[in-house]
Amino acid sequence: MKELLVISGKGGTGKTSIVGAFAVLADSKVLADCDVDAADLHLLLDPTVRTTNEFWAGKQAVLDPAMCRECGVCAEVCRFGAINGGGSMSVRGIGSVDNASLPKIDPVSCEGCGVCARACPHGAISMEDVMSGHWFVSDTAYGPMVHARLGAAQENSGKLVTEVRREARSIAEGQGLEYIITDGPPGIGCPVISSMSGVDLALIVSEPTVSGVHDMKRVIELAHHFGVKAAVCINKYDLDEVSAGQIEEYCQSEGVEVAGKIPFDEEVVGALVRGVPVVAHDGRGVGIARAGADGADRSGPAGFAGRTEGKAARAMRQLWARVVDCLKG
Ligand code: SF4
Ligand code: SF4
Repeated sequence: MKELLVISGKGGTGKTSIVGAFAVLADSKVLADCDVDAADLHLLLDPTVRTTNEFWAGKQAVLDPAMCRECGVCAEVCRFGAINGGGSMSVRGIGSVDNASLPKIDPVSCEGCGVCARACPHGAISMEDVMSGHWFVSDTAYGPMVHARLGAAQENSGKLVTEVRREARSIAEGQGLEYIITDGPPGIGCPVISSMSGVDLALIVSEPTVSGVHDMKRVIELAHHFGVKAAVCINKYDLDEVSAGQIEEYCQSEGVEVAGKIPFDEEVVGALVRGVPVVAHDGRGVGIARAGADGADRSGPAGFAGRTEGKAARAMRQLWARVVDCLKG
C-alpha cells in the first residue's frame, strides 16, 4: 500500500481537480480529504455518506450559575476577552462601578486555556470537551472516501486530519487497496504537517506566479525537513512560462522531480462547474468514464468511449502514470 499526498503552498492551485482526476485513474484506492477547513473533494466525487462520526477535541469553559458569586475574577483573568460581566468594572472618569451579574462566556472567543477555571475562587467554572466537527466514511463512484467537516470557529490543530488519515489507512488495509490518495490542506501549518508525516510521496501542486513559486519553496522545505519524498506538478504552466521555468530550475537544484506540467484548459472549468472530475468529463455534458494510465476507457455510457479528451485531462493522465512510477521507485 502506498500513500500519496497532494498539497500546495496555498489554496486555489487546482489541487482538488488533480485529486479528482487521480480518483478516476487509480484502480485500487481509498480517497481522503484532509483539507478539513475547506473540504471540496466531495463536490467532484458526489459521495454517499455511509457513517457519520463525531469529532471531539479541545476544551471550553462552562459556568455553573449555582456556584457563581459574581465576583468578576474570571473576566479579569481572561486574556481573550471571552468573559463579560460578573463583578465590578472600571469606567473612565467614574472609577469602579458595580457590574454584578452572572458572567457570560462567549464560546467562539474562548480558547480553552483554563485560566478562568483555575482562578475562580468558588469552583464555578469547569472545562468541558467540545465537539469540534464530524468525519464521514462514504462511497463514491470511484471507491471509498473519508472526509470531514470542522465545526464553525473550531481550530484546525491537525487532530481531525490525523483521524481522517487513520480511518483511510484502516479501510485500505481492510480491503487490501493499493493506494491512499489524500487531498491535503494548503500551506505549511499543523494540518499540513499532520497530513505529511509518513506518506510515500508528497505531490506539490504549484502555479507559475511569483507567490506560487515562493509558496512551493516553503512546502518543499517542509517536505525535506520531514524527510518526505516530494515531486512537483506545475498547473497552468503555459500562463507564465518564465515562472514555470523558475519552478523547474529550483526543483532541479533541490533534487525534486517535476512530475508533470498541466496546461490551462477551459475544459477543467467546465468539469468543475458540472461537478465531475476532468478526466471523466466529455466536454459536452456529464459523463463518467473510468480509464487507466494507458488512457483506455474501462466503463462509461454508450458512445462515450473514443471522445477527444482535452489537453489538461491528457496531461493529468500522464501525471498519474509518472506518480505511479515515483511511488514504486
Ligand atoms: S470567578 Fe467564579 S464566582 Fe467569580 S464571577 Fe467568575 S465564575 Fe462567578
Ligand atoms: S478558558 Fe481561557 S479563554 Fe476560555 S474563557 Fe476561560 S480564560 Fe477565557
